[in-house]
Amino acid sequence: MNLILMGLPGAGKGTQAEKINAEYGIPHISTGDMFRLAIKEGTDLGKKAKEYMDQGELVPDEVTIGIVRERLNKDDCKNGFLLDGFPRTIAQADALEEILTEMNDELDKVVHVDVPEEQLVERLSGRRVCPTCGTTYHVLYNPPEKEGICDKDGTELIQREDDKPETVKNRLSVNMEQQKPLLDYYQEKGYLVTVNGDQEIDEVFRGIQAKID
Ligand SMILES: [Zn+2]
Repeated sequence: MNLILMGLPGAGKGTQAEKINAEYGIPHISTGDMFRLAIKEGTDLGKKAKEYMDQGELVPDEVTIGIVRERLNKDDCKNGFLLDGFPRTIAQADALEEILTEMNDELDKVVHVDVPEEQLVERLSGRRVCPTCGTTYHVLYNPPEKEGICDKDGTELIQREDDKPETVKNRLSVNMEQQKPLLDYYQEKGYLVTVNGDQEIDEVFRGIQAKID
């Protein structure tokens, strides 16, 4: 089964990817892991990617696409794959289609884990950090015993700039703008399925299974 997983930060893609991997035995291929592997293995494309990354530059599409091609041709992908974080652009989506055609294969589904923006802001802005010992908490998922206070040393917890609602909203809108054309692209091609991500983890997974089985 060849799948792409889409969704905004905080939508719980990582958790669902683990469950899909466990249930269907297809590798979860995140862009970051893929780059790290290519660099570790020292492939030509890995070396090129590293040069750009070392200079703090974006890795150009042709290098990224080459790395995806290498990755999808590995043995562990012979029963399928779950791509996460790729494609990010229409050009990459077109390239993926070419790669799959070369492999005599095709996509099965593009799974969009959809969570309302307000819910994402709540999830992503809930993190609190102890400035003394660095322990992180989450107001919903991992709260300290006493609100706003570190369990370990009693220090008052702070919210990092990155986790403030305004910053989170900006990050989300950048991601939404990037994701929208891809959702439209896969919708037109008939691959897109949307799953309500605003539910318990297991419910979300059952929703995914109902759409891909
Ligand atoms: Zn502390």
